[in-house]
Amino acid sequence: MSLANLNLAAEADAILARLGVETSAYRGGSLTVRSPISGEELGKLPEMDARSAEQAIDAAHGAFLEWRLVPAPKRGELIRLLGEELRAAKADLGRLVSIEVGKITSEGLGEVQEMIDICDFAVGLSRQLYGLTIATERAEHRMMETWHPLGVVGIISAFNFPVAVWSWNAALALVCGNATVWKPSEKTPLTALATQAIFEKALKRYISEGGTAPKNLSTLIIGGRDIGEVMVDHPKVPLVSATGSTAMGRAVGPRLAQRFARAILELGGNNAAIVTPTADLDLTLRGVAFAAMGTAGQRCTTLRRLFVHESVYDKLVPRLQKAYQSVTIGNPMVDGNLVGPLIDKASFERMQKALNAAKAEGGKVTGGERVLADQAADAYYVRPAIVEMPSQCGPVVEETFAPILYVMKYSDFDAVLELHNGVPQGLSSSIFTNDIREAETFVSDRGSDCGIANVNIGPSGAEIGGAFGGEKETGGGRESGSDAWKAYMRRATNTVNYGRTLPLAQGVKFDI
Ligand code: NAD
Repeated sequence: MSLANLNLAAEADAILARLGVETSAYRGGSLTVRSPISGEELGKLPEMDARSAEQAIDAAHGAFLEWRLVPAPKRGELIRLLGEELRAAKADLGRLVSIEVGKITSEGLGEVQEMIDICDFAVGLSRQLYGLTIATERAEHRMMETWHPLGVVGIISAFNFPVAVWSWNAALALVCGNATVWKPSEKTPLTALATQAIFEKALKRYISEGGTAPKNLSTLIIGGRDIGEVMVDHPKVPLVSATGSTAMGRAVGPRLAQRFARAILELGGNNAAIVTPTADLDLTLRGVAFAAMGTAGQRCTTLRRLFVHESVYDKLVPRLQKAYQSVTIGNPMVDGNLVGPLIDKASFERMQKALNAAKAEGGKVTGGERVLADQAADAYYVRPAIVEMPSQCGPVVEETFAPILYVMKYSDFDAVLELHNGVPQGLSSSIFTNDIREAETFVSDRGSDCGIANVNIGPSGAEIGGAFGGEKETGGGRESGSDAWKAYMRRATNTVNYGRTLPLAQGVKFDI
């Protein structure tokens, strides 16, 4: 079927109705949402003004004051039910992600699976918010640390993971005893409305099954960056977890620091892979293809720089170029298509600008052209581009959020490590090798400087069990698994004297 006749708005309507979203939530407003698949308008959402956003945050603070008193394993029960509701809604929500963001079907569903996975993780965590007991130098004293809820956790999310990012934050924040306020991307508010409706369903069940939960525990504020700024500046938001571009982080980080609020910043990446002489080239080809072309190059962990050893360059790069020429591009909801559209025209223009800049630096470009424009003038499909670069310069050191893979030849391992780390961003990275020395060096102190460093898999496609985030201009935040939960709580060190004397630490005397 041609992209022009898909009638995605009707399909989105039906999904939203099934998930319990009222039509009034996305009709008659000023925020226009379009499907990147066809350019078709899906809705016009009423936007919040600053005053109502402030009120929503104040109400969430009220919810926090009650929710913190609910025992953590009981809070976990709400998240368990959320996981169940997400399982029930997986097909619908996954499809809506595809319609609103343009992800291929398995990636839309995969995003919802990620939400389910983090719910499972958070349920277990709700019984494991451990503090240490610490040896004390004072007799008949006990020293321990306890972890307490923080308050309202603000969540700002980007368009490319429109719902998973909320869940990484919200599932942890809620079991940790916080309330949440979510400002989704202005490009993807429909999936946020749907997620909120699914949360409300879980909450209703939780309460009907005897659970205690306040109103306004998890709320949504719809609007652009000005609404995000209200949250960033609000004194009752002690932590903002913000996912998006480095430019956004540069604006948000200092404002939070100004009022001593905490930040989890999950910003842009410029992820690289090194292919060494011993690499399994069949595996490398598949790993590189998914990491560089998947999600049409619109993952924060997308592979953007590929360093290939001179001894395997001529074996790998022509095969990659062939894969780029033959990859199926089109409606992401049609089985077999692997590359869907860019999110919008501005994204397409940034891609073309980067390709022109690469050419000016001596880059040899294959692909990158717009396709399918005859079927849908307002949708932006591109053939992913491979650019053979003489050196790491110009656009190669920036993140362009589109499917461009810069390929560079190397000869010396230490020199390529330096180049690998020689960009401002530090999110994800990979090495393809069967040489144990190279593999171990890559994940060692002198190896990759990124938050994620992989061996024999590409840089994209993280699991929720590990902490997710990156260094340098990627912002330094960690979300999701491992002990990322600690960022959503405050730590208290408690010393309890159960004796009858009052010895002072460090032998200090103060006898009155
Ligand atoms: P964006 O920066 O344009 O917007 C992200 C969010 O920030 C939106 O909700 C937006 O309204 C909000 N925002 C922007 N400026 C703001 C401000 N001054 N104050 C408050 N809120 C503000 O990003 P995008 O185009 O939606 O997403 C793509 C970018 O996100 C890429 O750079 C990508 O690498 C990054 N990203 C990073 C991660 C990660 O985990 N590191 C994950 C996904 C996306």
